[in-house]
Amino acid sequence: MNSEDPQNWRLLPAVERVLNLPEVVPLCTRHGRAVVTGWVRDVLEAIRIGPASDFPATSSHMMTEIIDRLTATAHRDSSQYLRRVINGTGVVIHTNLGRAPLATAAIQAITAAAAATNLEVDLVTGQRGRRGAGVENLCCEITGAEAALIVNNCAAATLLALQTLATGRSVVISRGQLIEIGGSFRLPDVFRQAGVVLHEVGTTNRTRVKDYETAIGPETAALLRVHPSNYRVVGFCESASIAELAQLAKSRGIPAIDDVGSGCLYDLSRFGLADEPVVADSLRAGADVVLFSGDKLLGGPQCGIILGRTDLIERMRANPLARAVRIDKLTCAALEATLEIHRAGRAFEEIPVLRQLSLSADEIHSRAERLVERLRTASPSSSCFSVQAVESAPGGGALPGQTIPSWAVAISGPNADRTAERLRLGTPSVVTRLQEDCNLIDMRTVLVEDEDALAGRLVGIATERR
Ligand SMILES: *Cc1c(COP(=O)(O)O)cnc(C)c1O
Repeated sequence: MNSEDPQNWRLLPAVERVLNLPEVVPLCTRHGRAVVTGWVRDVLEAIRIGPASDFPATSSHMMTEIIDRLTATAHRDSSQYLRRVINGTGVVIHTNLGRAPLATAAIQAITAAAAATNLEVDLVTGQRGRRGAGVENLCCEITGAEAALIVNNCAAATLLALQTLATGRSVVISRGQLIEIGGSFRLPDVFRQAGVVLHEVGTTNRTRVKDYETAIGPETAALLRVHPSNYRVVGFCESASIAELAQLAKSRGIPAIDDVGSGCLYDLSRFGLADEPVVADSLRAGADVVLFSGDKLLGGPQCGIILGRTDLIERMRANPLARAVRIDKLTCAALEATLEIHRAGRAFEEIPVLRQLSLSADEIHSRAERLVERLRTASPSSSCFSVQAVESAPGGGALPGQTIPSWAVAISGPNADRTAERLRLGTPSVVTRLQEDCNLIDMRTVLVEDEDALAGRLVGIATERR
């Protein structure tokens, strides 16, 4: 067929007629008529200038084609916006999937705080209160810190601490700890931004207390230790402990700042996860200021938590930069709820990150088996599903190189890329791990409450494929 044929053009409907189709009216209600009018014009134009062989031959084919393309456009449109995703990657703290999934209580707290809330009103006195006062008290109770300040993220915490305590002076740090996190956070750049001279000591693999000691001069404002979260130097290496640094700093009358990164409150070695610094240990070892993220192993919302000596924290609070990086009421609500769970001793039951890290391979194996069994019952075309052993990763820059044995539902068959795309684009979206032409869904990172929805999506995929 030739699309130059004038007969064909008459099959292209008027925009108005498409807008009034029963399939298109709901799109207008949801997205607005003006937006959908634009989509209809684009779709009609795409069909008009497309290959002649794709031009629909009859009026009813034409309508079907237009509706399919409009549905796809609407889908693409909403795929750019935030929506719920089922994390099948096995990476527990997945930065690109929003790091820690929040506990149910934290999600409820966000919903409640979304309306008017006592963010800066003391309900006892009716007078003005300080934003974050409650959540800061909780931080101190849980960690034993003297004072706390919560900011937008750990990068902001580092910038605020350096700028407040050391601008115009220098801070000593080991060469092995000049880290970059996620591309845009490079420690030397943060120093520059804070107006602090970076005084590197030691070598990439070995730095001793003696190196810091000889480096300290009248211009030195602080010592900084940064946990090399996302990489490890192994082999012939040495670094000074925070206890050693804190003692040295104290003897010279300057603060020791410890960026512990992931905000781990517990010893995780019983889950096969060693090496992550514990917040309270750092404080007990004498660190004057401790910094970490709220959305890594703490399992809360994105924020940066600064703990330490009251005089230093108060100086940071008084810095105008603190206002620029302060947290909003939703973060405050979610963090409070998360910390209350920690305080109540229920963290490993209720905080998804910790629950997922502590699941045994056997428990996950049973869940994967049950899901595959269910898929086999629900769908005659389920031979593509099997249970496969995998390794999960903590992620979020915590515990690099360490993995935990886990189990996945594997989806085999041709076109693994296309299957992954279909799973990503449907509702709810499912993000898989692609491995050797197979899509893996590691059950460790799938929330129990998402299992029904996941089963529904997988049955759909198997059926579509037939
Ligand atoms: C993750 C991390 C940061 C950055 O934290 P954000 O909350 O993402 O800003 C800084 N320092 C260390 C050691 C980290 O692990």
